[in-house]
Amino acid sequence: MVAYGACKPTSRKRGAVQPFAHSDFLLRRGSGLDTVSQCELVEMFPELRYRLDKLGYAMYLAELVDSMTAEEEPSGAIFGLLLGTLRNLGNGDSELLMRAFEIKLLTVLGYRPCLEKCVLCEGPLRASEVIFHAGAGGVLCGTCAERYEGGLLCHRGTVELLKLLLRWEIGRLDQLQVGKAARKELREVLRRHMEYHLDRRMKSTRFLELLEHV
Ligand SMILES: [Zn+2]
Repeated sequence: MVAYGACKPTSRKRGAVQPFAHSDFLLRRGSGLDTVSQCELVEMFPELRYRLDKLGYAMYLAELVDSMTAEEEPSGAIFGLLLGTLRNLGNGDSELLMRAFEIKLLTVLGYRPCLEKCVLCEGPLRASEVIFHAGAGGVLCGTCAERYEGGLLCHRGTVELLKLLLRWEIGRLDQLQVGKAARKELREVLRRHMEYHLDRRMKSTRFLELLEHV
């Protein structure tokens, strides 16, 4: 997509084509790139303009959506999720917002991990620690974990948090108090699950790791 003249200071397109602006576009189909015939700014996210950390998180969200969705296949659910997360990024707990976005996006795309019972034998999870196995598709009970290598040990509390992040609206996440250890487990569980389905490491993850002091 190309917006001719958008760089001119007097151009009416200028505001609408800024990175992370929510805008309406009217496009003219071309044989190569489409041309922007009209565009109108709908919403800006001011914090992303002067907070480098917030901009880093926004870039991560954009790259995640870009990596996990096909071009020209609109998804209202994913668009709504991205918009809601960007709106809350200014004041919210950025780290928890990223985790909620990840698990919700995975679910919309059909990659929701099994968190309620053992994904292999369907038995209940009784121990205080379980094994998360991205390849198996969720958590394993102690017996199945012995037969299935390569999982990640995590607390049941982390599994409960994941369920909560999935269920709660993005705007409610500020009510959650999550400690450092649980944050680390959440990040690792979701990172493994996404990398399993994504099949590659994203560029902005490195920046995110710096922000989250991994
Ligand atoms: Zn089992």
